[in-house]
Amino acid sequence: MAEFTMELNDEQKEVRDWLHGFAANVIRPAAAEWDEREETPWPIIQEAAKLGIYSLDFYAQQFFDPSGLGIPMATEEIFWGDAGIGLSIMGTGLAAVGVLANGTEEQIGTWIPQMYGDVNDVKVAAFCSSEPDAGSDVAAMRTRAVYDEAKDEWVLDGTKTWATNGGIANVHVVVAVVDPELGSKGHASFIVPPNTPGLSQGQKFKKHGIRASHTAEVVLEGARVPGHCLLGGKAKLDERLARARERAKSGGERVKNAAMATFEASRPAVGAMAVGTARAAYEEALEYAKTRTQFGRPIIDNQGIAFQLADMRTQIDAARLLVWRASWMASTGKKFESAEGSMSKLYASEVAKKVTAQAVQILGGNGFTREYPVERMHRDAAIYTIFEGTSEIQRLVIARTLSGMPIR
Ligand SMILES: Cc1cc2nc3c(=O)[nH]c(=O)nc-3n(C[C@H](O)[C@H](O)[C@H](O)COP(=O)(O)OP(=O)(O)OC[C@H]3O[C@@H](n4cnc5c(N)ncnc54)[C@H](O)[C@@H]3O)c2cc1C
Repeated sequence: MAEFTMELNDEQKEVRDWLHGFAANVIRPAAAEWDEREETPWPIIQEAAKLGIYSLDFYAQQFFDPSGLGIPMATEEIFWGDAGIGLSIMGTGLAAVGVLANGTEEQIGTWIPQMYGDVNDVKVAAFCSSEPDAGSDVAAMRTRAVYDEAKDEWVLDGTKTWATNGGIANVHVVVAVVDPELGSKGHASFIVPPNTPGLSQGQKFKKHGIRASHTAEVVLEGARVPGHCLLGGKAKLDERLARARERAKSGGERVKNAAMATFEASRPAVGAMAVGTARAAYEEALEYAKTRTQFGRPIIDNQGIAFQLADMRTQIDAARLLVWRASWMASTGKKFESAEGSMSKLYASEVAKKVTAQAVQILGGNGFTREYPVERMHRDAAIYTIFEGTSEIQRLVIARTLSGMPIR
C-alpha cells in the first residue's frame, strides 16, 4: 500500500508541470474559439495524442499510480486549461473506467485501446447510461438487451441521452436492462463495437457550458453485439442475477449495479475537474484584483475583495484534499465507508460553482463579457453539480451511507 504523503514526488511534479504547459500553451489559447464553435476540438485532441497526453499508456500510467494522485492531478491541470476541451480529452476515460470496473482482462485489453485509437487516427469513446426518463433515477432505465442464444448475440433497443461523445465515439459502452423484474440490479454493460449497424446519433445538444464537448442522444434500434461484448461475461451476469433474485426474495443485502460501479470510481475525477476550473477562475480573479484600480487603489486593497479571494482559495484547497483522499482510498483498496467519493464530488462541484460566480463578480463588467475567460468558466462550472450524479443525489448517497436509512 502506498504510504500517504501530501507531497507529489519528483516524477509526479514533472508530469504536472508538463501538463500545465500543455494546458497553458495549447488548451487555454484555443478555449474561446471551440466554446463558440460548439464542436469537438479534434486538432487539440490530435496534438495531445502526439505528445502522448491523449493515449491509453498515459491514462493507464496515471490510473495505476500507486498514490492514487495521478488521475486527479492530471485532470486538474487539463481542466485548468479549459473544461470543454478538457472533457473532450478526458471524457474517453469515463468509458474506459466503465470497462475497467465491469470487464474481464480480455475485454479491457481488446476495447480500451480502440477507445483511444492511435496518433494517426485518434478516436474517442462514450459511456451511455442516462435516458430521457432515467437520469437520477437509474432504475427507471428502459433500454433493453435481449440475448439471442442461437446466434450468441445481444440485441439492444432504446434511446440514451446526454452521452458525452455519443454518436461520434469509436466504442460506446451502453448500460441496458437484462432483467426488468430486478430494477437497477437487472442492468448490465455492453460494448458496442465501431460501426455497429443499429446504433446512430440522435439530437446533438446545444449547451450552457462545456460547449467544446460533444453531448448527444444515442439511438439503439436492434443493434446486435456479439456475446463477448457483455462486460464481465455471461456466467458472471447469470450468477449476479441469481444472487439479486435470491436477495429480492429475502429482502437482503443490496447488489451493486453496473452504472453505479462506474460512477463510484469516477466521482473523485469529476471533483478534480471542478477543482481545475475553480482554480483557473480564482487565479484570474486574483490577478485582476491586483491590477484593477478604483478609488485610487487596487480593488484587492479592500477587505470586501481580499477576503473573498481568501475564502475562494481556502475552499479550493479543501476541495482538492477531499478529492485526493477519495482517490488515495480508491487506489489503495480502502472502502468508501462514508461515501468519501461522493463527498469529494459534492464539495468540489459546489466550490467550483461558487468560486466562478465570485470571479465574475470580482471582474465586474469585464467578468460578464466574453473578453475574459471567467464568463466561460462560470458557465462551464454549472455542469459539475449535475453530471455523474447531481448534488442532491450525492447528498442522498452520503446521508444513506452515514445513516444506513433509506432516506428519500
Ligand atoms: C453535458 C452533460 C454531459 C453528460 N454526460 C453523460 C454521459 O457521458 N453519460 C451518461 O450516461 N450521462 C451523461 N449525462 C447525464 C447526467 O448524468 C444527468 O443529467 C444527471 O444524472 C441528472 O439527471 P437528469 O438530467 O435526468 O435530472 P433529473 O434526475 O430529472 O433531476 C432534476 C432535478 O431533480 C433533482 N432530484 C432528482 N431526484 C431527486 C431526489 N430523489 N431527491 C432530491 N432531488 C432529486 C436533481 O438533483 C435535479 O436537481 C450528461 C449530462 C450533461 C448535461
